[in-house]
Amino acid sequence: MIILMRRGCTPEEVQTVSDRLKDMGYDINPIFGVEKTIIGAVGVPEYDKLEAADQIQGLSGVEEVIFVSKPYKFVAREFRPNKTIVDVGGVKIGGDEIIMMAGPCTVESEKQLFQTAEAVSRAGAKILRGGAYKPSTSPYSFQGMGLPGLQLLKEASQKFGLKVITEVMHVRKVEEVCEYADILQVGTRNMQNYDLLREVGMTRHPVVLKRGMNAKLEEWLLAAEYIASAGNENIILCERGIRTFEPYTRNTLDLSAIPSLNSLTHLPVIVDPSQGTGRRDLVGPMTKAAVACGADGLLVEVHPNPDKAIKDGAQSITIQQFEKLMPELAMVASAVGRELPLPIRA
Ligand code: PEP
Ligand code: MN
Repeated sequence: MIILMRRGCTPEEVQTVSDRLKDMGYDINPIFGVEKTIIGAVGVPEYDKLEAADQIQGLSGVEEVIFVSKPYKFVAREFRPNKTIVDVGGVKIGGDEIIMMAGPCTVESEKQLFQTAEAVSRAGAKILRGGAYKPSTSPYSFQGMGLPGLQLLKEASQKFGLKVITEVMHVRKVEEVCEYADILQVGTRNMQNYDLLREVGMTRHPVVLKRGMNAKLEEWLLAAEYIASAGNENIILCERGIRTFEPYTRNTLDLSAIPSLNSLTHLPVIVDPSQGTGRRDLVGPMTKAAVACGADGLLVEVHPNPDKAIKDGAQSITIQQFEKLMPELAMVASAVGRELPLPIRA
């Protein structure tokens, strides 16, 4: 780290800061400028030194403590130069193949779920999405089917050869959701629920960590660090849009997050254009843009009859739209050196 001393600080102040840094195990290198003095401190991993920085910041004569490396460790690109591939029972997320996760926002009935699962599987999706425990802005709206919803997801996935992703909202439900799902989804509202992050970190289940709707990339990566530092490195980041002043879309999908994350972290990155836009007409274009700029997969809401959906119908695409989208996406994938294999139709 670099310690920037205040203009006009005394030699004693510089000495006190230097001595304190040496006590902490740093090699120090002060540079005395005409206007300001800076002290370079090296030799101790910076991610371990947040508290040290706090102490130095409090010393007399210190203007600012500047970190030169990231506050996260396990999820940083430097920690693992090769990209992580998260293996979900043979479905590999983060490799050459673009992985499609598709299904309804929420599980409503056996008929709705099975019809969707069958169709998305036939079109080339590998993972079935569907909420059984739903985070709702209003306590009066539908909260999900709960356990029967999880059971339906498992049955549908087995019947149609898919893996399952579903949201877990509470620490006490982690074990139950692990029993039925192949991937745990931590939703935008829980990105900074540190107890939940630690709890999913204690499993070895793959986790999709959605971006908090107000989160900066660094805060998001620190949330991922909670999971990784608890021992679970099977983390997939999901960009799902952030709050901006623009009301035309439900959220503003931050596509620049994809290449940014690809340089900041080794973790795979997927995109949810459904929550990201809130608009069915924008889902197709955003999926293609996401693949073009380096996403490893997509999480898309598909419903057999979106106008009758209990939740998020306006942003759910129809089965026919999904079928049409897949070959278009495959072309974009191949244009950027990725693969999206489509099943051969009889
Ligand atoms: C969802 O995927 O249906 C959902 C509620 O996601 P988010 O947490 O991104 O709002
Ligand atoms: Mn939804």
